[in-house]
Amino acid sequence: MHYDYLIVGAGFSGLVLAERLSNELGASCLVVDRRAHLGGNAADEYDDHGVLVHKYGPHYFRTDSARVLDYLSRFTSWRPVNYQILSWTKQRYWKFPVNLNTFEQMIGRPSTEEEFKAHLEKVRVPIANPANSEEIIISQIGWELYEKFFKGYTQKQWRKSPAELDASVCARIPLRTNRDDAYLREKFQALPAAGYTRMFERILAASPRVHVLLKADYREVMNTVSHTKLIYTGAIDEFYDYRAGVLPYRSLRFEPESFTPEQLKVREEISGHAGFWQPALQVNYPNEFDFTRIVEVKHATGQLCTNTTIVREYPADYVRGGEAYYPVPTEESRRAYSAYAEIARNEKNTYFAGRLATYRYLNMDQIVDAALDLFETIRADRSAA
Ligand SMILES: Cc1cc2nc3c(=O)[nH]c(=O)nc-3n(C[C@H](O)[C@H](O)[C@H](O)COP(=O)(O)OP(=O)(O)OC[C@H]3O[C@@H](n4cnc5c(N)ncnc54)[C@H](O)[C@@H]3O)c2cc1C
Repeated sequence: MHYDYLIVGAGFSGLVLAERLSNELGASCLVVDRRAHLGGNAADEYDDHGVLVHKYGPHYFRTDSARVLDYLSRFTSWRPVNYQILSWTKQRYWKFPVNLNTFEQMIGRPSTEEEFKAHLEKVRVPIANPANSEEIIISQIGWELYEKFFKGYTQKQWRKSPAELDASVCARIPLRTNRDDAYLREKFQALPAAGYTRMFERILAASPRVHVLLKADYREVMNTVSHTKLIYTGAIDEFYDYRAGVLPYRSLRFEPESFTPEQLKVREEISGHAGFWQPALQVNYPNEFDFTRIVEVKHATGQLCTNTTIVREYPADYVRGGEAYYPVPTEESRRAYSAYAEIARNEKNTYFAGRLATYRYLNMDQIVDAALDLFETIRADRSAA
């Protein structure tokens, strides 16, 4: 069989493009992924204890884009979620992101927004143009809060001082003087009601002329499957056999632990909820331990299940060929990527899409938005041909 498109990667990028190409242009697509499942990094699954877990770290869907929401809502209904985060340090849980409640915990008495603002005015370090992640935080909340909640976490995550990282890394986290402790800023915050993997299955079911081949590297099939164009959503340095060097990434190791209702009884006082291990969806560990966070995703999925699973997340060095999670946000790595971007620009029959091929950390909604844009580019290219 001949395919119009050979699509490498069955993540958000690959599946959205396959659906659009098949339904809008009548194109045939073969989607190849070397993993054993659909959904790329956003995949979820039921573990051996019957708990729905996010396979590659927690994925909190959120968006301000009506286009993305309308598109995905064709394949899923949604469960609204208030993604709640706490921070644990010095033997206690702290309200996080930093807000008036956190300040009250620090000073050990009730306070007001005015008092907190006046305090910040006193402790913040005036920096006109914060150039890195340390400067962006100390210029807003000073050294004490920075050292309690940001410095150690960022250092563990990136194995670099926040002073060496782009300001955008820490600027992602909101800082507020009121009592709003929402972790994310976007208007729409929800999870696919039946999970991500179910949503990906529905995208596929709605896509005629799309075939999927799992557990296969595209290089194994590239020369035997006849196709007109390639859409590549894997790592760009790997695509070019690392000829301009290995791009820097951070990796992660996930360590799950499951509990039965009997085991959870002793945690009830801490978690405040029967059937849960910790008091919130995510608890950050900025200073103690080697892991950065513990996630108990049952808080967000709303699954009615008496067992629970928590996942400890350990930052890890990336080795070539391993799991590449986060591009390292520094000037140096952007320069390294631009060498590949230059080569890629001259490719004739290949489109590059997604987080790995464009070497960018993008949230799921941004990835969907970019895939919808790329689809329009491909449509225009076809009309021009
Ligand atoms: C730990 C973590 C947490 C995250 N949390 C959030 C969150 O809370 N909210 C949010 O919006 N976003 C989050 N993201 C980002 C989200 O994962 C991405 O936006 C999204 O998954 C990117 O989709 P993609 O299709 O571009 O890439 P991927 O999902 O990585 O898919 C690429 C696929 O290509 C396959 N592939 C690569 N090379 C080959 C090859 N040679 N042959 C065959 N197959 C190949 C891979 O196996 C992979 O399945 C998180 C990311 C990480 C790393």
